[in-house]
Amino acid sequence: MNDAEHSRGTHHHEHPKFDLQPEAPPAPATAGTIFTCPMHPEIRQSEPGNCPKCGMTLEPMLPEAGEGENPELADLRRRFWWTLPLTVLVTLIAMSGGLFGAARPWVELALGTPVVLWSGWPFFVRGVQSVKNRSPNMWTLIGLGTGAAYLYSLVAAVLPGIFPSSFQVDGQVALYFEAAAVIVSLTLLGQVLEFKARSETGAAIKALLGLAPKTARRIRADDSEEDIPLTHVHVGDRLRVRPGEKVPVDGVVLVSTATFPDGFFLLNRQLV
Ligand SMILES: [Zn+2]
Repeated sequence: MNDAEHSRGTHHHEHPKFDLQPEAPPAPATAGTIFTCPMHPEIRQSEPGNCPKCGMTLEPMLPEAGEGENPELADLRRRFWWTLPLTVLVTLIAMSGGLFGAARPWVELALGTPVVLWSGWPFFVRGVQSVKNRSPNMWTLIGLGTGAAYLYSLVAAVLPGIFPSSFQVDGQVALYFEAAAVIVSLTLLGQVLEFKARSETGAAIKALLGLAPKTARRIRADDSEEDIPLTHVHVGDRLRVRPGEKVPVDGVVLVSTATFPDGFFLLNRQLV
């Protein structure tokens, strides 16, 4: 439905003889952008978000020229770097055995909690979404695995007495804070690397888009001319391409001087 609205707005527009707002700035590129999942092209929605099937971050179908760094990549990277020292510490303490003595469960709890609950929060959100959408995926497993390890360890650290004595060694129950923290940190690292790879692909496409001109010179019904953003070019518009200019859109040549590219010609837009 969104796609239908999109195409109606740009492709089959009955173009006015005179542009009512010739000086209007180009519409923000995000308006009308369709987002899709790299793994599930059938997913299409008008807002950014996560794929309802696999939980992957949706990407715009057409990368926008001049777009900055993906805010989600910046967020994931921040979560990764801020909690990496905690993950390393909690792992070292868990492996060290007797360090910190009776205080060890509390130290591990203090170190592991920000990693799992703050850094891993986006993963729990996706895990819950996957259950709501009845589409189990990677995030269901990561959410379940880290959530179970964290909750079990939380109870074991706070109330070790409720566990059977066979679970206890010197009054302490085995903790898995470091396992949950390592899973969250490694998953974050994987997400950051995946985002980087995807943004490099996008950058290559953006470089190609950059080769196309950003404006076109439209000839009004009274034969005067105006420069308009490419997005305002409609089917049926007559465009002038002057010497040395790039051809902005596909079209049919209406008038051409004999010595193109030295002359100029008029385009009648036919295709998008
Ligand atoms: Zn997907």
